[in-house]
Amino acid sequence: MNAYIITIGDELLIGQTIDTNSAWMGQELNKIGIWVKRRMAIGDLPDEIIASLNEAIQLADVILITGGLGPTKDDLTKHVLCKYFGGELIMNEEVLQQVTEFFTRRNLPMLDVNRHQALVPSNCTTLINKRGTAPGMMWEHNGKIIVSMPGVPFEMKHIMSTHVLPKLQEKNDTQVLHETLVTAGIGESFLAKKIEAWEDALPQNIKLAYLPSIGMVKLRLTIRGNKNEDLQTQLLHQFETLKKLVSENLFADNDEPMEESIGKLLLANKFSLSVAESCTGGFIASKIVSVAGSSKYFEGGIVSYSYDTKQNLLNVKKETLETFGAVSEECVKEMCKGVLERFKTTYSIAVSGIAGPDGGTDDKPIGTVWIAVGSSKKIVAQKFLFSKERFRNIELTYVYALKMLMDTIVGGI
Ligand code: AMP
Ligand code: MG
Repeated sequence: MNAYIITIGDELLIGQTIDTNSAWMGQELNKIGIWVKRRMAIGDLPDEIIASLNEAIQLADVILITGGLGPTKDDLTKHVLCKYFGGELIMNEEVLQQVTEFFTRRNLPMLDVNRHQALVPSNCTTLINKRGTAPGMMWEHNGKIIVSMPGVPFEMKHIMSTHVLPKLQEKNDTQVLHETLVTAGIGESFLAKKIEAWEDALPQNIKLAYLPSIGMVKLRLTIRGNKNEDLQTQLLHQFETLKKLVSENLFADNDEPMEESIGKLLLANKFSLSVAESCTGGFIASKIVSVAGSSKYFEGGIVSYSYDTKQNLLNVKKETLETFGAVSEECVKEMCKGVLERFKTTYSIAVSGIAGPDGGTDDKPIGTVWIAVGSSKKIVAQKFLFSKERFRNIELTYVYALKMLMDTIVGGI
């Protein structure tokens, strides 16, 4: 089964509201094996609604529409769809009762426009909306399913979950499966070169997607077919090969944020972590604690921005700072050791760099970052030259520090 999503509302076109409805619907449809063929965002205009519906009906089996169901004059979807399918608006007693209760409970008077929310097209199935006053509507037309829902995300999700997804799941006979991995520390073109031969030999029904972001590239394999085919085995076979090909840069073989993957690994092994941050100013610690349950493995961190705090809180030697500076191998190694001993953790991370936009010198240009990762057995440090942009440098430092930590743990150091 294929789907077409139409989101309606001028606010979507001018960027005032971000179309989160399509993203959520896309994810949910994929979970039940329905491929989204196209998404379309349009304004509140009858001609636009009709044109997109005409196209959607040609292309897809299921058409999901959100927006334009409010009580005000700018919301036209119900009227346009009612006319499109040749119906007329009639009062739905169940919806009327629900809308009346909605206003009675809030001690508000009911206006005519609110009563009109209970007017539904005569030829549709009404989808009761327990989260708001505008009901959803569903038509089955020449073998196609067309659903119209309110734009308010939590109302749309309620109607999708209670009425639409169960029905689609029952009717659908296709499946869509994905496997995703995360690589860090390699650009997408270099990655593509590494896996070129394998990618060229992929079977027709498996697609590879590159999803780059700061410091990392996700690779997603997608397979589509009928429910009766054993797609899982085919997909996993290719995924295992891909994992081997990118093993040097592999961070995780799932689609989780890096901090979650690291957290799981630390937790599973009963390891603990502490951080000493200079140029990232707490960014690494903040990412780590964004994961629920991180208190089980994260002891804490020290933001040591000045020479004084590096010396006083992390035991960095005065001579180290005077001889090599704060952005140096010697300094990050001492920071790493200092925080490891202070917090008594299995592992620690230390970072020090020049985030920019000023502060660079000839031998330490903006973007120079030293990262150290270690345990009581060994501390390793690496120098990076990132970019000229401050926040990009902070994020890159975070990604590379976590990659170094992952390699350290997996390497058994
Ligand atoms: P409507 O059903 O057109 O009255 O939409 C009501 C509200 O839902 C709008 O004010 C938007 O803030 C929100 N909304 C509409 N469409 C979307 C969408 N595609 N994604 C996220 N929010 C939306
Ligand atoms: Mg609207």
